[in-house]
Amino acid sequence: MRKGLLFVFSAPSGAGKSTILNRVIEDDPNIQFSVSATTRLPRKSEVDGRDYHFLDRRQFLDNIKNGKMLEYDIYCDNYYGTLKSAVEEPINKGIDIILEITVPGALQVKKMYPDCIMIFICPPSLQELEKRIRRRGTEDEEVIQRRLEQAAKEMAQANLYDYVVINDDLEKAVREIKQLILENRMKRRSESL
Ligand code: 5GP
Repeated sequence: MRKGLLFVFSAPSGAGKSTILNRVIEDDPNIQFSVSATTRLPRKSEVDGRDYHFLDRRQFLDNIKNGKMLEYDIYCDNYYGTLKSAVEEPINKGIDIILEITVPGALQVKKMYPDCIMIFICPPSLQELEKRIRRRGTEDEEVIQRRLEQAAKEMAQANLYDYVVINDDLEKAVREIKQLILENRMKRRSESL
């Protein structure tokens, strides 16, 4: 059976990644998000098992020790990681998977899945990014500053990705990503003929 494709997205916090990707998958039954594990506390609207598997540190470290993580990273003092099972099972069933992960996490995935398709979503500018994070209103000032510092570092690594999409217009970014997915599916189809 043909395997699913693995799309790895990274973007600075507040770049609009979740909004774009939710739109990208809403009318596409052949692609799914992988649900990550994290030690971060849930935000008000977040549901365990849907947005993340919310774990305590001990549980997260046990998963690492038991070889259950495909990749993991520490971001603003919390662990975030992808469970191997969350990728392997759907991919083996032919379902395409989306990971939304940090740059170091994406580079770990590339080593394990060299055929994965890496896409970086950029905000139009760091000023715009700051506005968006403040508008979201879910983080306190210290966390905002750290996320902005992290964002500058991440944006400097966008050149490591196969594609860079700039989110200056939501509809345009959604269209571009849908097109990238389509092109890669067509490529897979022609390779398996
Ligand atoms: P947030 O706390 O805003 O949900 O996520 C913070 C950062 O962690 C984002 O850049 C997000 O992409 C990243 N992240 C979420 N899940 C994972 C994961 O499984 N692995 C890695 N390496 N990063 C993740």
